[in-house]
Amino acid sequence: MIPVRSFAGRTVAVFGLGRSGLASIDALIAGGARVIAWDDSEAPRETALARGVDLQDLRSVDFSAVDALLLSPGVPLTHPEPHWTVRRALEHDVPIIGDTELLVRELKGRATLVAITGTNGKSTTTMLIGHLLEACGFDVRLGGNIGTPVLTLDIPIESSVYVVEFSSYQIDLTPSLAPEVALLLNIAPDHLDRHGTLENYAAVKARIFSQQGSADTAVVGDDDDLSRAIASGLGRCCRISGDHKVDEGMFVEDHKVFIADTSGTRQIADLNGIPTLRGKHNGQNAAAAIAAVLSLGVREKQLQDALSSFGGLAHRMEEVGRVGEVLFVNDSKATNSDAAACALSSFEHIFWIAGGQAKSGGIQNLKEFFPKIEKAYLIGDAAGQFADTLEGDAVVEQCGTLERAVAAAAHDAEAYDGEAVVLLSPACASFDQFANFEIRGEAFRQAVHAVPGVEKS
Ligand code: ADP
Repeated sequence: MIPVRSFAGRTVAVFGLGRSGLASIDALIAGGARVIAWDDSEAPRETALARGVDLQDLRSVDFSAVDALLLSPGVPLTHPEPHWTVRRALEHDVPIIGDTELLVRELKGRATLVAITGTNGKSTTTMLIGHLLEACGFDVRLGGNIGTPVLTLDIPIESSVYVVEFSSYQIDLTPSLAPEVALLLNIAPDHLDRHGTLENYAAVKARIFSQQGSADTAVVGDDDDLSRAIASGLGRCCRISGDHKVDEGMFVEDHKVFIADTSGTRQIADLNGIPTLRGKHNGQNAAAAIAAVLSLGVREKQLQDALSSFGGLAHRMEEVGRVGEVLFVNDSKATNSDAAACALSSFEHIFWIAGGQAKSGGIQNLKEFFPKIEKAYLIGDAAGQFADTLEGDAVVEQCGTLERAVAAAAHDAEAYDGEAVVLLSPACASFDQFANFEIRGEAFRQAVHAVPGVEKS
């Protein structure tokens, strides 16, 4: 835990008693702050009470005696409308911050911060940067939006590097954010319910760079218009692309990473044959991670071995088993069709398991991949709609449940003449049949491991 000393002797109101809220309370108290806390739901209030937290309904608290409101990133700051705690804080000119702001204040001058944001690929890039740094001997602390509350990380020792994934909500709640290395991977329409417009969303993402100094590193994706516009507004930055050459920065061609600068272009890594970095999207993630770690002192000759030992992330194109020439891949995190497109573009001869709770637009935008689909095994609420879209382009089997889909797909893939992939990449939310995508992914893993003769990955 990192004790937070920046509010010693002062009062912080905490709203939102999830894991990061509770961790913040511990860290604030350890650093000498007074904490009052609240949550609109009873269950987290009870958990907090059992830990001795001073619970006070913030509706009736005098905000003029509060020095900061610490908000959980899940609570709306602006859209669809400011949460009532936000209104109360604004009325009394009380700063509104998140746990990441507390971290940033604690680290200033004591450790290096690498901050990663973007619409897609944040967690993969965060993990990859952490892995590359660790493999090259750095003292690494990894957390943030990826799941580990930042204040539960260990205190810095000299030369510690904190690799922290930031959602746009967390950037909004971190006014002092000035990372030594900042990465913006990409911007696509997402979370607009919470940011109002795409322009607002992009403006929040751009704030990751706004307080960087001239010695700091900015890494910006060059593969979408909004990110490109942000890069153009920065003085100096390293542009990265997964799909075209850049003049200054890093790009990927034939799944090889090239560095381009005033002295020319040269290859610095080859991602071919690294199973955890398949696909064009991972080319972008890897190029960004490489740019980040080179700026921190990793040497080019260390890269290839470190990349090759990357273990990848669960539920993101994760290999879970193999039988003969059939590979089983768990991409349960693909809860929309854009994510499923990443997986479908990364494999050939696909026995595709899809469906669940449908997202708007369905799988219309996946048509270019239908020729690669040997057969589709449909599950969940979206099955009927997906079958209509696939009609005439791919053979479809209605399976109902994931277990039946795995058994049917395994049977057909094993009979296929040549290499084949049984791919769970649902293009749907999981909530019709599972509590979340992780549980769906675990169910897939179990079903795969129950297939006779499967070697677990
Ligand atoms: P995030 O943390 O931003 O949600 P993840 O690294 O968890 O991103 O990846 C989630 C999914 O997003 C992946 O399974 C893949 O389908 C897709 N994805 C990953 N990286 C990228 C990228 N650079 N560009 C577009 N899509 C990506």
